[in-house]
Amino acid sequence: MCGIVGYVGKRNALPIVLEGLKRLEYRGYDSAGVVLWDGEEIKFEKTAGRVAALEKKISNKPWQGNLAIAHTRWATHGKPSDRNAHPHADCAQKIYVVHNGIVENYLEIREALTREGHVFKSDTDTEVLAHLIERPFLATSGPIALEDAVLDALRHVVGTFGLAVISKDDPQKIVAARRGSPLILGLGDGEYLAASDAAAIVEHTKNVIYLHDNEMALLTPQGLKIFNLSKKTLEKPVDTINWDISAAQKGGFAHFMKKEIFEGPAALENVLRGRLLEKDGVSKLGGLESVRDKLLNVKRILITACGTSYYAGLIGKYYFEEIAKVPASAEYASEFRYSNPVVDESAAVILISQSGETADTLEALREAKKHGALTLGIVNAVGSTIARESDAGIYNHAGPEIGVASTKAFISQLGALMLVALFLGRQRSKIPLNLGEKFVKELKGLPAKMEWILKKDEEIKKLAKKYLKHKNFLYLGRKYQFPVALEGALKLKEISYRHAEGYASGEMKHGPIALIDENFPTIVLATKDMVYEKIISNIEEIKARSGKILAVATEGDDRILKLVDDVIFIPQTLEMLAPILSIIPLQLFAYHTANLLGLDVDKPRNLAKSVTVE
Ligand code: GLU
Repeated sequence: MCGIVGYVGKRNALPIVLEGLKRLEYRGYDSAGVVLWDGEEIKFEKTAGRVAALEKKISNKPWQGNLAIAHTRWATHGKPSDRNAHPHADCAQKIYVVHNGIVENYLEIREALTREGHVFKSDTDTEVLAHLIERPFLATSGPIALEDAVLDALRHVVGTFGLAVISKDDPQKIVAARRGSPLILGLGDGEYLAASDAAAIVEHTKNVIYLHDNEMALLTPQGLKIFNLSKKTLEKPVDTINWDISAAQKGGFAHFMKKEIFEGPAALENVLRGRLLEKDGVSKLGGLESVRDKLLNVKRILITACGTSYYAGLIGKYYFEEIAKVPASAEYASEFRYSNPVVDESAAVILISQSGETADTLEALREAKKHGALTLGIVNAVGSTIARESDAGIYNHAGPEIGVASTKAFISQLGALMLVALFLGRQRSKIPLNLGEKFVKELKGLPAKMEWILKKDEEIKKLAKKYLKHKNFLYLGRKYQFPVALEGALKLKEISYRHAEGYASGEMKHGPIALIDENFPTIVLATKDMVYEKIISNIEEIKARSGKILAVATEGDDRILKLVDDVIFIPQTLEMLAPILSIIPLQLFAYHTANLLGLDVDKPRNLAKSVTVE
């Protein structure tokens, strides 16, 4: 999920790959490492922390060589530490691997390899790759090409990888491969580069080849060869990068927030990956195995979190009650601790935090533990304090989120909550197989529907322009869409400094309706679901008071066109999954509003990404 840079050519590879890593720092990471072939020997160094810390560790070493690979890690398996940083090596310390992505079946592979006598040194999923690649070398005394050993290894791997490998026994080459994690190859003058992101190589060359899934590349001083995983040679076009470095760092987007909104579909895929069993209509959550029995017997679920994570929690409450039939509630973490919570061993307390360091949520976790509750973390940052202190949990795998306003993490939190609810619902026999299957199928199809909404970016920008003069907004939604209204309003507040209030639409007539006039627009979440008719009544009430309405509605809903001023359509899905779609137009609306106002979208005033104070 983070960074890879590789270089082979005539120059000293070390400064080139280290500079490349620095170009990738914007992505966020927790550790860094490098491995170099100096013509005779392999040298490597790795560390938890910044690339600068890595440089410091090697500053007094006169390493020189024409071939190197380097890595910045964003931990998914095993906490950030020197030991878990990449590269990872085989038993003989001859093969060195850097990897982005997740080896989903790493436990099975690790067990099988351990039985064969392999010894593991880290907690990562990645290390199995080094040992798998070692296997063919152990099985024969004759020469084996590194690429063949890598091909052989990849046959066993389920999951995603962007990969670069070097070996002492076949030293003048880098083998790179990709499935699900990006890899780009750079063609220089007598030199070749591989990187997870163009930003790492544009300084050296603008001529690149994009490696696709299930493709492999062989980089040597003599040239570049590309083939598929059946070793069929591929002729691939050379593209030219025409971005400057700052755009490259944001993947061609003007801001991280926009990039991350567009990463929403991938974030959902990543949180679901390997965790859905279609034929049983259920989810499989390795992180909850250790507390499985306890969890299946809880009498109550309490979700606690702050900000965007809290709104995800409000949706989670509906999931648990509707799918798993467990009484559930959601509470601000900052309130939980001081509200004399009545929780005990019969309750599960779910803590949601992107960073895993949110001070209020951490204190709520400690409070819940004091009461004997089962604590479960839904956390994006692996090895963070909340992840460590919870009894069990699931990681979001959304990748680093840099923009202060959370977008893709929210989507992955909803995915994670859905997975837990589905697990409970099916295991406790609260929903039948066919319903479970339906959820699983629809969840899997959701990323494509999200992409469909993202194509409306320009349309949403025009709407943001149209509403730009307004300084106050009301956001309304009901049932599953109520927390979406809250989150949509929060996005607008956070980055555009416009006043926006999210409300349960049924509450409008109990107060906020007094605000409505032609200068106070309302954004209404009016998706086709069981509360649709109620929402239509609210829309009529607003219209009767000359209020302007921008609706987010379900594709094919012609009726709404006649009732409101503007509509953004989203595809049909199951009612409970609709928030994952309906939040996207609201994220984009907030983004464009702030951007049109010339504000610093990624770093809004007064806000911090990780709130480590109470
Ligand atoms: N899954 C690997 C790890 O946790 C790679 C993480 C990454 O993509 O940086 O070490």
